[in-house]
Amino acid sequence: MADLYASVRYLKGIGEARAKQLAALGIETVYDLIAYFPRTYEDRTRLVPISELQVDEPACFRAMVTSHPQTHHIRKGLDLTKISVTDESARLRLTFFNQKYAADNLEYGKEYYFYGTLTGDYSGYGMTNPVFEDVEKPGVLTRRIMPIYSLTAGLNNNFVARSVAQALALCGDSLPELLPLALRRQYGLCDTAFAYANIHQPSSFEALEQARNRLIFEEFFVFSLGLGLMRGRRAQKGRQPFANLDLAPFRAALPFTLTGAQERALADICRDLGSGRVMNRMLQGDVGSGKTAVAAAAAYLAAKNGVQTALMAPTEILAEQHAKSLAQLLAPLRVSVSLLTGSMSAPKKREAREAIASHRADLVVGTHALISESTAFANLGLVVADEQHRFGVAQRAALAEKGENPHLLVMSATPIPRTLALILYGDLDISVMDELPPGRQTIDTFLVGETMRARINAFIRKQVAEGHQCYIVCPAIEEGESESLRSAEAWAETLQSTVFPDLRVALLHGRMKGPEKEAVMARFARHEADILVSTTVIEVGVDVPNATLMIIENADRFGLSQLHQLRGRVGRGKDKSYCVLFTDNRNPETLQRLKALCKTNDGFEISRQDLALRGPGDFFGTRQSGLPAFKVGSLQMDLQTLQNAQSAAAEFLASQELSLRAEYAPLMDRIRTLFADRELALN
Ligand code: ADP
Ligand code: MG
Repeated sequence: MADLYASVRYLKGIGEARAKQLAALGIETVYDLIAYFPRTYEDRTRLVPISELQVDEPACFRAMVTSHPQTHHIRKGLDLTKISVTDESARLRLTFFNQKYAADNLEYGKEYYFYGTLTGDYSGYGMTNPVFEDVEKPGVLTRRIMPIYSLTAGLNNNFVARSVAQALALCGDSLPELLPLALRRQYGLCDTAFAYANIHQPSSFEALEQARNRLIFEEFFVFSLGLGLMRGRRAQKGRQPFANLDLAPFRAALPFTLTGAQERALADICRDLGSGRVMNRMLQGDVGSGKTAVAAAAAYLAAKNGVQTALMAPTEILAEQHAKSLAQLLAPLRVSVSLLTGSMSAPKKREAREAIASHRADLVVGTHALISESTAFANLGLVVADEQHRFGVAQRAALAEKGENPHLLVMSATPIPRTLALILYGDLDISVMDELPPGRQTIDTFLVGETMRARINAFIRKQVAEGHQCYIVCPAIEEGESESLRSAEAWAETLQSTVFPDLRVALLHGRMKGPEKEAVMARFARHEADILVSTTVIEVGVDVPNATLMIIENADRFGLSQLHQLRGRVGRGKDKSYCVLFTDNRNPETLQRLKALCKTNDGFEISRQDLALRGPGDFFGTRQSGLPAFKVGSLQMDLQTLQNAQSAAAEFLASQELSLRAEYAPLMDRIRTLFADRELALN
């Protein structure tokens, strides 16, 4: 038995140079080596008669040497050794380049196992530099499932395989078992030693499958436990329970009746706020499901219980809109609302900050940057983050640090399946709003090509003539950003000057200054413009109920969920609304993706399809996703295992064995290491 965490240099054949190369792969200790799993496998178990070897297909065969090696010195640095081998089916010529020493080991008249790739040209078939092994000795490079590792310059696969084998032989027995026996029994999982041995040197494909299963489960289990622990720790943080949970005045002031889904979410929230522990809740609801009203109710309760609320919006436009509509709703209830955005004038900002610091403001609406960085609250008790599927675990953890353990409510308009929600938001409790306010009509969605341009323009005219407004979303801001993409600036100009000279066309994009954007949005909201040509800055949250038509140019450039978000900008009032997706893309997959959007208005269904089509990485955007990179498990392929691991983790946490039993120390260590890598503190 040897130390798992000893340097790899402890192993035979690994000196300073090799150790450096391994370090480039992130391998420093013997354990790192053992935890460096193959990227794929080559089946060398099947023996093929020489006559059945296929060109360019590597294969194993058994053959007898039927000639003495002949070495030719071609030129300096190039030796060529030839030798013939035969089995019952055929003869084959082998060529070794600069491997005289190897070829010399082949004895005339003896049998060997070979592994190599058949090549063929006008001069006949042959094989170059096959590996071979004595028939008497156990197979290392032949007759087995060969692990193939990701490599870096200077390292070859055999070296890594051999080093791993050595590490396993030395330390395989000291690998800690992370999964309790009962759990392994329940889910039919093999033990650690078997799993590591067979992920590297599978004795059969069944054994490999068992090993993979176990390691995938372990990976998901450890991650889920970590998130669960984080949730638990945060929930342990105490807060004076809100004494006043009376929402009657709030309900009376609302211009509508809350939906059942809103009521259920609010009940969850009230339970949290009255519990004496800190709330950590994700509110998930489709576009237009009315999350703002729920947030407003929570802010109302916070104010009535003497603490301040910070509502953080992803864009200034949205912050301004929220501030305005929330002030309208809450001011009569004597809850004062302040706005704080980067583009406000210095005196206005100072005024807002003073109101916040002196607790004259009960609810502060602003962009993330402003609120999370430099703003001092008199008594912050609730943080609401809006539309944040782009919000990672670490950012949430940072938020929770603000103020004295404020309650946290995160609102997301990207409905995702529960399993994935648990991966992304496993540190939060989740409320789902799966119901839209009554009277919402479905938005008729059409997929069209350029040939329909004139008819769609006529349709815009008709909507405007009926007193409605229209959004046109372009993927680019300026002309020339990309050859084939419609740009908002140029298109707005064209529409105004030639297509709709008699209508009022406005332009909005992300490079405009804050006050400019604000002015444009305000004008559109006041119906002083008929058509708003925009980039995706209007993707989230913007609420102009009179807008009934959403047109999206180069629709193939957007993800399904993003298109669904954009479409959600219309259909917010009582009038029939429409969405038109322009594309001239002929790719059948792309068209299938876009047609999915025409068939349904259900965000959950759309995200399910989007996920299936693009995979979680693309779906969330790789960088911003906060999605962990799993080593063996795949969020796409191994959903069932993920579900099992999640429920196992939940049960395990509920049984509270983790903190009590010394035998779980390795498991805790693994969790800590995992979350330390993510720059998250677990304590
Ligand atoms: P989202 O969940 O996308 O943020 P909003 O909160 O912006 O949705 O609400 C969308 C629209 O629905 C708003 O105009 C809001 O006033 C309205 N609304 C919210 N709740 C209800 C309800 N229970 N009944 C009717 N209209 C509602
Ligand atoms: Mg919203």
